[in-house]
Amino acid sequence: MNAAKVEENMRVPRFVGHGKIEFGHKPVPRPGPGQLLLQVHANAVCGSERRQFADGTTITPGHEAAGTVAAAGPGTHTTVGTPGVVYLMLFCGSCRSCRAGFTNQCLNKQGDMGFNRDGGYGPYELVPEVVFFPVDADTGAADATLLLDIMGTGGHAIERCRMVRPDIESLLVMGAGPIGLAILAMAKIILGQALPVIVADVVPYRLKLAEQLGGLPVNVATGSLEDGLKRHGHFPVDVAVDTTGKGAARQGALNALAQRGALICVGHGEGLNLQISSDIIAPERSIVGSEYFRYNELSANLPRFREHRSYLKQIITHRFGVAELQHAFEVFFAGATGKVVIEQ
Ligand SMILES: [Zn+2]
Ligand SMILES: [Zn+2]
Repeated sequence: MNAAKVEENMRVPRFVGHGKIEFGHKPVPRPGPGQLLLQVHANAVCGSERRQFADGTTITPGHEAAGTVAAAGPGTHTTVGTPGVVYLMLFCGSCRSCRAGFTNQCLNKQGDMGFNRDGGYGPYELVPEVVFFPVDADTGAADATLLLDIMGTGGHAIERCRMVRPDIESLLVMGAGPIGLAILAMAKIILGQALPVIVADVVPYRLKLAEQLGGLPVNVATGSLEDGLKRHGHFPVDVAVDTTGKGAARQGALNALAQRGALICVGHGEGLNLQISSDIIAPERSIVGSEYFRYNELSANLPRFREHRSYLKQIITHRFGVAELQHAFEVFFAGATGKVVIEQ
């Protein structure tokens, strides 16, 4: 095993349930064949951790990690000291989906980092080399996390939009949380700065952030979605992306779609009522799911990251040390943040 000097034990947060995070100790794992030991420098907080925070978990959460390789197990080819990020899904690499590049739809998925494998809120994380993605030495760990749920999930949703609607002239994003902001930002980067992107939410802080990133804000707490879209001169819209998971938001987005329009569902959660004839068949609309992203989208996004780093960085609004993890989660789930990053 190739290794920098690594401690025997590490202090890790324990999510004990009822919104409480305590700290305990675990042995620092040693990388086996095909595995890397990552010294974690940053891990971004995600809305999908709500249940772990509320209910507790025996594993160490954190699925948006960036750090440097501290030790490399047998059969690996990554050099100790290499900086990089960790892809969430432990894909098999050999099933029909993986062979075609759809690693986010692996038919033999082994698990999810930070959900059923120890993740990135501890100082070290054991990472199968196949889910490690190296980045430039000067990237900075907090910024590198942007390649994951922000650029990855955001960019994948835009790819899903284009698949069913090649000529997008207006885009509506439901929800201005981190994923909503991610879709706004990746729409601007991939589809062009001139594309009007309307962003609907109920939290003024988040709408302000969306505006700062070039979005057209609609506060649906103080008026209707349709009126907001009309005020900006964009009703109906070509494509809508729902990040909220709320049935009412999806319904509103569907009703705002033009003919040939597409609704892309990114946020898990509630349902949607469809009148198949009038909602789908006659106007030839599409409803499409978008789940995380494919591993090889990381390399497609790396040049975009280099070019648009200072723009994308605006999505990170709060940074905390790992000792402040409890406070960081409370601040994040109170709703008035962009992306929150934990650094160590
Ligand atoms: Zn996430
Ligand atoms: Zn597979």
